[in-house]
Amino acid sequence: MNLILLGPPGAGKGTQAEALAKRRGLVQLSTGDMLRAAVKAGTEVGKKAEAIMKSGGLVPDEVVIGIIAERIEEPDCANGFILDGFPRTLNQAAALDRLLASKAKKLDAVVELKVDDAALLSRIENRARETVAAGGTVRADDNAEALKTRLMAYYRETSPLIGYYFASGKLKTIDGMAAIPDVARQLDDVVG
Ligand code: AMP
Repeated sequence: MNLILLGPPGAGKGTQAEALAKRRGLVQLSTGDMLRAAVKAGTEVGKKAEAIMKSGGLVPDEVVIGIIAERIEEPDCANGFILDGFPRTLNQAAALDRLLASKAKKLDAVVELKVDDAALLSRIENRARETVAAGGTVRADDNAEALKTRLMAYYRETSPLIGYYFASGKLKTIDGMAAIPDVARQLDDVVG
C-alpha cells in the first residue's frame, strides 16, 4: 500500500506516519527527516537545504524529487510506503505521478489531516518543550518565526494538492484534532 499524509506543519503527519508504518509493515518516507539527516551529515544536499529549512521555506523541487526518486528504488519500499511531507508542491505531485507510473506503482490513498490553524503554534511549541524535556535537540524551524513561513508555504504551495488529489479520487480527509489514538483509528478506517 502506498500512501501520502497531507497536512500543515504540526498536524501530526510524522507521528501518525511512524505509527501506521509500524502497524502495517510499511516504510515511512519523510523528506524532512531525510533533509535533516543530510544537513547533519554535511552533504551537498544538506548544504543547499540548511538555511532554507531554518527559515521555514521550501527546498527546491528538484532536490526533494531527486531524494524521493532514489529512495523509492530501495528494496524496502517494495512492500509499500507512507510519504510524509512529500509532495509539497503541484510540481512535486506531478513528478511523483510520473515516477510511480514509470515503476508500475500506484498511490492507494492520500489522507488529509485536517486541523484548526490556531492550534498549530501551540502544537509546535509543545513539540519543542517535549523534545527539551526528553534531552533532545529542538528543530531549528520549531519556533514562531519559522512557523509563520512554514504555514505560508503550506497554504500557498501545498494546500492546492488537496484539490489535485480530490480530483483524482484519492483524497480522504480525517480529523487531525482528535487525540493521537483516535486519529490513528480514523486513519486505519480510511486506508482500509
Ligand atoms: P518537515 O519535517 O516535513 O516539517 O520538513 C521540514 C522542512 O524541510 C520544511 O520546512 C522544508 O524546508 C523542507 N522540506 C521537507 N520536505 C520538503 C518538500 N517535499 N519540499 C520542499 N521542502 C521540503
